[in-house]
Amino acid sequence: VLEIRGLVKSFGDAPVLRGIDLSIARHECVAVIGASGSGKSTLLKSVNLLEQVDDGQIFLQGEDITDPRVPVDATRARIGVVFQQFNRFPHLNVLDNVTLAARKVHGQSRGTATATALRWLERIGLADKVGDYPDRLSGGQQQRVAIVRAIASDPELLLLDEITSALDPQLVGEVLDLVADLKRAGSTILMTTHEMGFARRVADHVVFLSGGVIVEQGPPELVLGDPQEPETRAFLARVH
Ligand code: ATP
Ligand code: MG
Repeated sequence: VLEIRGLVKSFGDAPVLRGIDLSIARHECVAVIGASGSGKSTLLKSVNLLEQVDDGQIFLQGEDITDPRVPVDATRARIGVVFQQFNRFPHLNVLDNVTLAARKVHGQSRGTATATALRWLERIGLADKVGDYPDRLSGGQQQRVAIVRAIASDPELLLLDEITSALDPQLVGEVLDLVADLKRAGSTILMTTHEMGFARRVADHVVFLSGGVIVEQGPPELVLGDPQEPETRAFLARVH
């Protein structure tokens, strides 16, 4: 689904991504871990074309989306995104939050978008909240609505950037459970997380990023359970 080749990105003269190669197969979940400032969010933003890359290519289903001839809006419509916070439109109720993109970006009819949204809201136990405004929901409920919104239009790829880091610890579990559900249902996911237990549970592949390079990558039981690089070991010792 996604293939990143030789991705380079600097802010001013500060290099942030220094040659990233990464691919994600259909139905696969890749977790990017690493210290604050290591470039995780910049990597995800590059994939969503929120940052313009300096060098390298990003292929989505074989199409180079960094090619300026490929329209940015069309690419973004193929990708679902959830960030740490600010994922909701405060002036819209839950139903409109979930259906807006499906209707405006994907041209779904109100009926179709509403039916899909209700099915998802039912599934996450929030069907009774459709008319509520986001500020009436808990942080965990808001993030689950944001996730449902991101997948309601059936994106080819889901980007999740630290979606639990703004939540109280007791709300983290319900959000992670939903992501695990999506993964089981076949979503293709590229995510960053500070929750090593979660990476271990849902990721097929873990990438440890440091200083804008991939220091180590592989199956979670290896990268998290038996890391080979001293830098990975030092990082895991700090976060555990
Ligand atoms: P965290 O775990 O704290 O979310 P991160 O791994 O996501 O960190 P990034 O947000 O990708 O890190 O930032 C990587 C580096 O790029 C940091 O040094 C950051 O200060 C810098 N950076 C990010 N965005 C910008 C920007 N818009 N302008 C200038 N520098 C930026
Ligand atoms: Mg970040």
